Amino acid sequence: MSREFSTEFFSALESSIGPDGVDTTPEACARYGSNRLPGGDRQVAGVVMPATTADVAAAVRLAGEHGMTLWPTSTGQNLGLGEFSPVRSGQVVLHLGKRMNRVLDVDERLGFAVVEPGVTFWQLRAELRARGDKLMLSSTSGPPEGSILGNALDRGAGYTPYFDHFGMLCGLEVVLADGSVLHTGDGLLPGAATRFVNKSGFGPLLDGMFSQSNFGIATQAAIWLMPRPPAVVGFAFTFPEDDDLAEIIELVRPLKLSNAVPTLIKVTSDVYAFGTRCTYPFERTGGAIPLPDTVRRELREQHGTGAWTVTGALYGPSAEAVAPAIERIRAVFEGSGRATYHPHDRMLDDPLLRIHLDTFSGEPTDSELGLLNWRPGGGATWFLPATPMIGEVAQRQQELSRRILTEHGFEYVVEFVCGPRAARALHIIPFDRSDPAEVARMNAAYDALVAAHDAAGFPIGRTPVDRQEWAMQRLPQFQDVTSRIKGALDPHGIIAPGKYGIR
Ligand SMILES: Cc1cc2nc3c(=O)[nH]c(=O)nc-3n(C[C@H](O)[C@H](O)[C@H](O)COP(=O)(O)OP(=O)(O)OC[C@H]3O[C@@H](n4cnc5c(N)ncnc54)[C@H](O)[C@@H]3O)c2cc1C
Repeated sequence: MSREFSTEFFSALESSIGPDGVDTTPEACARYGSNRLPGGDRQVAGVVMPATTADVAAAVRLAGEHGMTLWPTSTGQNLGLGEFSPVRSGQVVLHLGKRMNRVLDVDERLGFAVVEPGVTFWQLRAELRARGDKLMLSSTSGPPEGSILGNALDRGAGYTPYFDHFGMLCGLEVVLADGSVLHTGDGLLPGAATRFVNKSGFGPLLDGMFSQSNFGIATQAAIWLMPRPPAVVGFAFTFPEDDDLAEIIELVRPLKLSNAVPTLIKVTSDVYAFGTRCTYPFERTGGAIPLPDTVRRELREQHGTGAWTVTGALYGPSAEAVAPAIERIRAVFEGSGRATYHPHDRMLDDPLLRIHLDTFSGEPTDSELGLLNWRPGGGATWFLPATPMIGEVAQRQQELSRRILTEHGFEYVVEFVCGPRAARALHIIPFDRSDPAEVARMNAAYDALVAAHDAAGFPIGRTPVDRQEWAMQRLPQFQDVTSRIKGALDPHGIIAPGKYGIR
């Protein structure tokens, strides 16, 4: 991209969508290219903030005419995964959430809201509350200012029965690279009354093509919402030792397979729990890293947590009505002889447990963001494999990750978010981004984690932008197929070339 091309592009775009929609100041370019990843900030060519779907279509057409590339984001709260930053420098950030941020409809009978990219978890929560709290949001435990749509498109997830955020989208509106607008599912027929309620209509399901991809730019969709249960009653158990994980997973699986617990069940490691509330205790370790086990135990004591914390919630007409089911769950975990029970009321008062209760109740919370400050220097990245819900397999995965992270000077900061058959093994790795040696160790640790997990049969899923092209090279057939689709839909590579390795 030459400077001449970009100047012509931005002035043509200003004429088309108005000056409020374009920012090419050095401050904006720096801010939109910054992130927390070891791979470094990106050089951004400029920022475009469309107000309508027509503006997005105009931006795509003009980008094609001027040889520019667009990186769509909704609210850029992808913390530890890239924020607003594109995969490659030189791309123009399309900040959809800045001016396209309306809740277009809430249907309380059918349980959905139609949202633009800028609608945040907090915003939709407030909208639902204002309408009498009949519907419950599925929120992440991450930034409440994250976008419902952006999070879902990156296949983010929550913790209620509607945790599969992409799976809960229906009737996507997508701008394609030629500037045309596609409606997925039943929305393909103009005026379809079923647009936001039926995905499985005629022909191939196209929706999945627009998640973790660069095949189009989503400008609105419905998100399905569950009726808010009158009572949400949480339960928590702490377990004393790292090796209790195998037994925990064996206890959790039947509860999820039978749907005895409607929420996902979280199994949270000690540092993931207390790291939300404190920073790395260099004063106690004499500056040494990683955290010695003795200090880790002291911090567990101090924060009243265990090596693992297991949490979930039941829904029902009243707390009394679900009390017998809570007793049955207690019997399951306490039968192990290893678990200490913490009731709902304690969860309300204990900040480490309150995070979980909030996420099971559809309440956005910023309490987990303290994890980003565990190490000084502002770096954080996510490593996100899954694990089958088999105790000995999860235990093997724990041993693998713990060893690699420890060898590279990092802590094992992990939450298993358990469904019936698989758990998402959420590893967050906070690191000192101002220390080049620590950044180098971070990169080496990531390489080693991916290689070891690939060899053990645990491939990664959602991936930080600085690793997406690298991760795709492990999958040559997938790269070939997705590149051919890209070539058909976007032959000039206008939309986010390189995203998730799709060229
Ligand atoms: C402590 C902590 C806890 C977290 N917990 C969770 C959690 O529980 N669950 C979870 O899912 N995440 C979690 N996150 C990760 C992340 O912060 C959230 O997922 C956040 O919601 C993503 O940012 P966003 O919603 O602003 O999406 P964006 O950053 O706007 O978008 C995410 C990606 O999707 C693509 N995209 C966005 N909008 C569009 C569009 N309209 N068209 C095409 N492509 C688009 C872009 O490539 C972008 O990079 C957590 C992070 C931290 C630090």
